[in-house]
Amino acid sequence: MVLYFPLLNIETLLLKNNKMSILEIVKEPDPILRKKSKEVENIDQSIQRLMDNMLETMYEAPGIGLAAPQVGILKRIIVIDLAKQDEPKKPLYIINPKILWKSEELISREEGCLSIPGYFAEVARPSKCKVQYLDYNGKPQITDADDLLSTCIQHEVDHCDGILFIDYLSKLKKDMILKKLIKTKKEKQIL
Ligand SMILES: [Zn+2]
Repeated sequence: MVLYFPLLNIETLLLKNNKMSILEIVKEPDPILRKKSKEVENIDQSIQRLMDNMLETMYEAPGIGLAAPQVGILKRIIVIDLAKQDEPKKPLYIINPKILWKSEELISREEGCLSIPGYFAEVARPSKCKVQYLDYNGKPQITDADDLLSTCIQHEVDHCDGILFIDYLSKLKKDMILKKLIKTKKEKQIL
């Protein structure tokens, strides 16, 4: 997920860890974004490396949340960091998330997505949620999320189920965005 205003983190751009690599972000309308991701069975070094690279990719984009299908890997893995530009980083690694509860109260927020660059729209989602997951070390965690974290978790869990934020928009608006994305993709292929 991306915020409407760009969060350009100079520190991230300058201090690149050589061990990490930037992954290619899959863009809509790539069919992989519509597939359901599988649960991670074993949290080993390769999964941790993937999470490190996803985080680095997200920081560079920049975005505040990224799900594994967005880098072409159909596993239920999410990275999130809501720290502001001048705050220390606060990465959150979420594996096999299960939303245990969602509030009836909804909140509307302008959402964007690294897989749908340049488009933002208001989406109404439950304002709070309770999520169960495994962390970076495979330890079970339960988090009560509200505000931006709640929105972000729901947006990223949707990615693991092949759902994009534009699916919540009117057909007219969604079709308009899709048409433009397809046009951009074609133009890029010509160049
Ligand atoms: Zn997204």
